[in-house]
Amino acid sequence: MLDYKTPIDEINKCRYCGENSEQKFKSKAHLVPEFAGKINLLCLNECDSCNNLFSEYERNLKNFGSFKNSFLPIKGKNGFPKYKDYEFSFRSEFKDEKTLIASIFDKKDFIKIEPNGFKQKSAPTPFIPLYVYKALAKMGVSMLHPNELSKFETLINWIQKKDLIIETDLPLTLVLNKKGKPLIKPMAILLKKKAKVNSPEFSFIFVWGFYRFQIFLPYNPNDKDLVNNDVTLPISYDLVLKSGENGISFNHFDMSSIIKIKTLEEISFGLK
Ligand SMILES: [Zn+2]
Repeated sequence: MLDYKTPIDEINKCRYCGENSEQKFKSKAHLVPEFAGKINLLCLNECDSCNNLFSEYERNLKNFGSFKNSFLPIKGKNGFPKYKDYEFSFRSEFKDEKTLIASIFDKKDFIKIEPNGFKQKSAPTPFIPLYVYKALAKMGVSMLHPNELSKFETLINWIQKKDLIIETDLPLTLVLNKKGKPLIKPMAILLKKKAKVNSPEFSFIFVWGFYRFQIFLPYNPNDKDLVNNDVTLPISYDLVLKSGENGISFNHFDMSSIIKIKTLEEISFGLK
Protein backbone atom coordinates (compact mmCIF):
# COMPACT_ATOMS: atom_id res chain seq x y z
CA MET A 1 0.00 0.00 0.00
CA LEU A 2 2.92 2.32 0.50
CA ASP A 3 3.39 2.70 -3.22
CA TYR A 4 -0.22 3.63 -3.99
CA LYS A 5 -0.65 5.84 -7.02
CA THR A 6 -3.90 6.99 -8.61
CA PRO A 7 -4.37 4.98 -11.82
CA ILE A 8 -3.22 7.27 -14.61
CA ASP A 9 -6.49 7.07 -16.56
CA GLU A 10 -8.42 8.19 -13.51
CA ILE A 11 -6.56 11.42 -12.70
CA ASN A 12 -9.17 14.19 -12.34
CA LYS A 13 -11.93 11.73 -13.15
CA CYS A 14 -13.97 10.79 -10.12
CA ARG A 15 -14.08 7.06 -9.44
CA TYR A 16 -17.39 7.47 -7.58
CA CYS A 17 -19.56 9.98 -9.46
CA GLY A 18 -17.80 10.35 -12.80
CA GLU A 19 -17.09 14.09 -12.35
CA ASN A 20 -14.29 15.10 -14.70
CA SER A 21 -14.01 18.85 -14.64
CA GLU A 22 -10.58 19.84 -13.35
CA GLN A 23 -11.95 22.66 -11.13
CA LYS A 24 -13.82 20.08 -9.05
CA PHE A 25 -10.63 18.45 -7.83
CA LYS A 26 -9.28 21.16 -5.53
CA SER A 27 -9.30 19.40 -2.15
CA LYS A 28 -6.73 16.81 -1.21
CA ALA A 29 -8.36 13.41 -0.93
CA HIS A 30 -6.42 10.89 1.11
CA LEU A 31 -6.46 7.15 0.63
CA VAL A 32 -6.43 6.67 4.40
CA PRO A 33 -8.01 9.27 6.72
CA GLU A 34 -5.42 11.61 8.13
CA PHE A 35 -6.48 11.13 11.75
CA ALA A 36 -5.23 7.53 11.51
CA GLY A 37 -1.65 8.75 11.10
CA LYS A 38 -0.03 10.79 8.44
CA ILE A 39 0.94 8.91 5.30
CA ASN A 40 0.67 11.08 2.26
CA LEU A 41 -1.17 8.94 -0.25
CA LEU A 42 -3.42 11.09 -2.37
CA CYS A 43 -6.37 9.95 -4.45
CA LEU A 44 -6.51 12.17 -7.53
CA ASN A 45 -9.66 10.37 -8.64
CA GLU A 46 -11.92 11.68 -5.88
CA CYS A 47 -13.79 14.92 -6.62
CA ASP A 48 -14.47 17.64 -4.04
CA SER A 49 -18.11 16.80 -3.42
CA CYS A 50 -17.42 13.07 -3.00
CA ASN A 51 -14.49 13.95 -0.76
CA ASN A 52 -16.81 16.09 1.30
CA LEU A 53 -19.30 13.27 1.76
CA PHE A 54 -16.61 10.71 2.57
CA SER A 55 -15.14 13.07 5.18
CA GLU A 56 -18.42 12.78 7.03
CA TYR A 57 -18.11 8.99 7.08
CA GLU A 58 -14.54 9.32 8.25
CA ARG A 59 -15.57 11.61 11.11
CA ASN A 60 -17.87 8.84 12.33
CA LEU A 61 -15.08 6.29 12.08
CA LYS A 62 -12.92 8.69 14.05
CA ASN A 63 -15.55 9.13 16.76
CA PHE A 64 -15.90 5.37 16.94
CA GLY A 65 -12.33 4.91 18.08
CA SER A 66 -11.26 8.33 19.26
CA PHE A 67 -11.15 7.71 23.03
CA LYS A 68 -8.96 4.64 23.10
CA ASN A 69 -6.73 5.91 20.34
CA SER A 70 -6.33 9.25 22.12
CA PHE A 71 -3.83 7.41 24.32
CA LEU A 72 -1.54 6.88 21.35
CA PRO A 73 0.72 9.54 19.89
CA ILE A 74 -0.71 9.20 16.37
CA LYS A 75 0.44 12.17 14.35
CA GLY A 76 -2.25 13.36 11.93
CA LYS A 77 -2.71 16.45 9.82
CA ASN A 78 -2.83 18.79 12.80
CA GLY A 79 -0.20 17.13 14.92
CA PHE A 80 -1.10 14.88 17.84
CA PRO A 81 -4.75 14.14 18.59
CA LYS A 82 -6.73 16.35 20.90
CA TYR A 83 -9.49 14.61 22.72
CA LYS A 84 -12.38 16.30 24.47
CA ASP A 85 -15.09 14.70 26.56
CA TYR A 86 -18.09 16.87 27.36
CA GLU A 87 -19.81 14.47 29.68
CA PHE A 88 -16.92 13.91 32.06
CA SER A 89 -15.46 17.31 31.23
CA PHE A 90 -11.87 16.59 30.41
CA ARG A 91 -9.50 17.09 27.55
CA SER A 92 -6.29 15.34 26.74
CA GLU A 93 -3.53 15.99 24.30
CA PHE A 94 -0.03 14.74 23.54
CA LYS A 95 2.65 17.36 24.02
CA ASP A 96 5.25 15.18 22.40
CA GLU A 97 5.53 11.47 21.71
CA LYS A 98 5.91 10.57 25.36
CA THR A 99 3.84 13.13 27.22
CA LEU A 100 0.09 12.98 27.43
CA ILE A 101 -1.51 15.87 29.26
CA ALA A 102 -5.03 15.51 30.61
CA SER A 103 -6.93 18.32 32.25
CA ILE A 104 -10.42 18.82 33.61
CA PHE A 105 -12.59 21.79 32.81
CA ASP A 106 -15.28 21.06 35.34
CA LYS A 107 -15.25 19.51 38.76
CA LYS A 108 -16.00 15.97 37.81
CA ASP A 109 -14.08 12.82 38.61
CA PHE A 110 -12.95 11.33 35.37
CA ILE A 111 -10.17 9.27 36.85
CA LYS A 112 -10.79 6.63 39.45
CA ILE A 113 -7.79 5.55 41.49
CA GLU A 114 -7.70 1.86 42.30
CA PRO A 115 -5.24 -0.28 44.29
CA ASN A 116 -3.25 -1.34 41.22
CA GLY A 117 -3.70 1.57 38.92
CA PHE A 118 -6.43 3.82 37.69
CA LYS A 119 -9.41 3.82 35.41
CA GLN A 120 -10.59 6.52 33.10
CA LYS A 121 -14.09 6.79 31.74
CA SER A 122 -15.34 8.63 28.73
CA ALA A 123 -18.47 9.13 26.67
CA PRO A 124 -17.03 9.81 23.20
CA THR A 125 -18.87 11.80 20.53
CA PRO A 126 -21.61 9.49 19.20
CA PHE A 127 -21.18 7.74 15.85
CA ILE A 128 -23.50 6.40 13.16
CA PRO A 129 -22.69 2.71 12.50
CA LEU A 130 -23.69 2.83 8.83
CA TYR A 131 -21.27 5.67 8.21
CA VAL A 132 -18.45 3.80 9.94
CA TYR A 133 -19.15 0.90 7.60
CA LYS A 134 -19.32 3.16 4.56
CA ALA A 135 -15.99 4.76 5.49
CA LEU A 136 -14.37 1.32 5.44
CA ALA A 137 -16.16 0.17 2.28
CA LYS A 138 -15.08 3.37 0.51
CA MET A 139 -11.45 2.79 1.45
CA GLY A 140 -11.78 -0.72 0.02
CA VAL A 141 -13.24 0.62 -3.22
CA SER A 142 -10.50 3.23 -3.54
CA MET A 143 -7.95 0.42 -3.56
CA LEU A 144 -9.69 -1.72 -6.19
CA HIS A 145 -7.84 -2.31 -9.43
CA PRO A 146 -9.56 -0.33 -12.24
CA ASN A 147 -10.42 -3.64 -13.96
CA GLU A 148 -12.60 -4.61 -11.02
CA LEU A 149 -14.60 -1.39 -10.90
CA SER A 150 -17.36 -2.08 -13.41
CA LYS A 151 -18.89 -4.83 -11.30
CA PHE A 152 -19.04 -2.63 -8.22
CA GLU A 153 -21.45 -0.06 -9.62
CA THR A 154 -24.12 -0.90 -7.03
CA LEU A 155 -21.61 -0.73 -4.19
CA ILE A 156 -20.35 2.66 -5.35
CA ASN A 157 -23.91 3.94 -5.66
CA TRP A 158 -24.60 2.73 -2.10
CA ILE A 159 -21.52 4.51 -0.77
CA GLN A 160 -22.56 7.71 -2.51
CA LYS A 161 -26.10 7.80 -1.14
CA LYS A 162 -25.52 8.75 2.43
CA ASP A 163 -28.48 7.23 4.19
CA LEU A 164 -29.15 4.33 1.84
CA ILE A 165 -29.20 1.29 4.08
CA ILE A 166 -27.86 -2.01 2.96
CA GLU A 167 -29.84 -4.63 1.12
CA THR A 168 -27.64 -7.59 0.59
CA ASP A 169 -27.86 -11.22 1.53
CA LEU A 170 -24.31 -11.28 2.73
CA PRO A 171 -23.98 -10.69 6.44
CA LEU A 172 -22.90 -7.15 7.17
CA THR A 173 -19.97 -8.06 9.29
CA LEU A 174 -17.43 -5.86 10.84
CA VAL A 175 -14.85 -7.72 12.81
CA LEU A 176 -13.24 -5.53 15.34
CA ASN A 177 -10.46 -6.34 17.69
CA LYS A 178 -9.43 -3.68 20.17
CA LYS A 179 -6.75 -5.59 21.97
CA GLY A 180 -3.99 -5.95 19.44
CA LYS A 181 -0.61 -4.29 19.69
CA PRO A 182 -1.28 -0.68 18.71
CA LEU A 183 0.12 0.82 15.53
CA ILE A 184 1.12 4.45 15.22
CA LYS A 185 0.88 4.31 11.43
CA PRO A 186 -2.28 3.03 9.78
CA MET A 187 -2.47 -0.04 7.60
CA ALA A 188 -5.02 -0.68 4.85
CA ILE A 189 -5.11 -3.90 2.89
CA LEU A 190 -7.50 -5.13 0.23
CA LEU A 191 -7.57 -8.91 -0.15
CA LYS A 192 -8.91 -10.83 -3.11
CA LYS A 193 -9.66 -14.52 -2.85
CA LYS A 194 -7.65 -16.86 -5.01
CA ALA A 195 -8.91 -20.28 -4.09
CA LYS A 196 -12.34 -21.56 -5.02
CA VAL A 197 -13.85 -21.27 -1.59
CA ASN A 198 -17.33 -20.34 -0.52
CA SER A 199 -16.31 -16.89 0.70
CA PRO A 200 -16.79 -13.31 -0.49
CA GLU A 201 -14.32 -12.29 -3.18
CA PHE A 202 -12.98 -9.15 -1.53
CA SER A 203 -12.12 -8.34 2.04
CA PHE A 204 -10.75 -5.11 3.41
CA ILE A 205 -8.62 -4.72 6.53
CA PHE A 206 -7.90 -1.46 8.29
CA VAL A 207 -5.65 -1.07 11.29
CA TRP A 208 -5.77 2.21 13.20
CA GLY A 209 -4.11 2.55 16.58
CA PHE A 210 -5.62 -0.07 18.87
CA TYR A 211 -8.31 -1.06 16.38
CA ARG A 212 -8.29 -3.72 13.72
CA PHE A 213 -11.27 -3.73 11.37
CA GLN A 214 -12.16 -6.26 8.73
CA ILE A 215 -15.13 -6.12 6.35
CA PHE A 216 -16.19 -7.99 3.22
CA LEU A 217 -17.07 -5.80 0.25
CA PRO A 218 -20.83 -6.07 -0.28
CA TYR A 219 -22.76 -5.90 -3.57
CA ASN A 220 -20.29 -7.97 -5.54
CA PRO A 221 -22.11 -9.85 -8.33
CA ASN A 222 -19.42 -12.53 -8.12
CA ASP A 223 -20.62 -13.31 -4.60
CA LYS A 224 -24.17 -14.00 -5.72
CA ASP A 225 -23.77 -17.75 -5.73
CA LEU A 226 -22.64 -17.68 -2.13
CA VAL A 227 -26.05 -16.76 -0.89
CA ASN A 228 -27.94 -19.50 0.89
CA ASN A 229 -24.88 -21.67 1.02
CA ASP A 230 -22.61 -22.04 3.96
CA VAL A 231 -20.60 -18.91 3.57
CA THR A 232 -17.24 -18.85 5.26
CA LEU A 233 -15.89 -15.49 6.31
CA PRO A 234 -12.14 -15.86 6.52
CA ILE A 235 -10.91 -13.54 9.22
CA SER A 236 -7.27 -12.62 9.03
CA TYR A 237 -5.57 -14.17 12.03
CA ASP A 238 -2.31 -12.28 11.90
CA LEU A 239 -3.74 -8.86 11.24
CA VAL A 240 -7.10 -8.89 12.91
CA LEU A 241 -7.58 -11.64 15.46
CA LYS A 242 -4.15 -12.07 16.98
CA SER A 243 -4.39 -10.24 20.23
CA GLY A 244 -2.60 -9.29 23.37
CA GLU A 245 -2.49 -11.32 26.55
CA ASN A 246 -6.07 -10.53 27.45
CA GLY A 247 -7.67 -12.62 24.75
CA ILE A 248 -10.14 -11.55 22.14
CA SER A 249 -13.25 -9.53 22.67
CA PHE A 250 -15.93 -8.81 20.13
CA ASN A 251 -18.34 -5.94 20.06
CA HIS A 252 -21.60 -6.19 18.30
CA PHE A 253 -23.26 -3.28 16.61
CA ASP A 254 -25.90 -3.28 13.93
CA MET A 255 -23.71 -1.72 11.26
CA SER A 256 -26.69 -0.91 9.04
CA SER A 257 -28.18 1.49 11.55
CA ILE A 258 -28.34 5.22 10.91
CA ILE A 259 -29.19 5.96 14.51
CA LYS A 260 -26.41 7.63 16.45
CA ILE A 261 -24.83 5.40 19.05
CA LYS A 262 -23.46 6.70 22.26
CA THR A 263 -21.04 4.49 24.12
CA LEU A 264 -19.48 4.63 27.52
CA GLU A 265 -15.89 3.52 27.48
CA GLU A 266 -13.36 2.78 30.09
CA ILE A 267 -9.65 2.26 29.96
CA SER A 268 -7.48 0.93 32.80
CA PHE A 269 -3.85 1.58 33.50
CA GLY A 270 -1.62 -0.42 35.78
CA LEU A 271 0.91 1.37 37.92
CA LYS A 272 4.36 -0.14 38.21
ZN1 LIG B 1 -17.20 12.47 -7.24
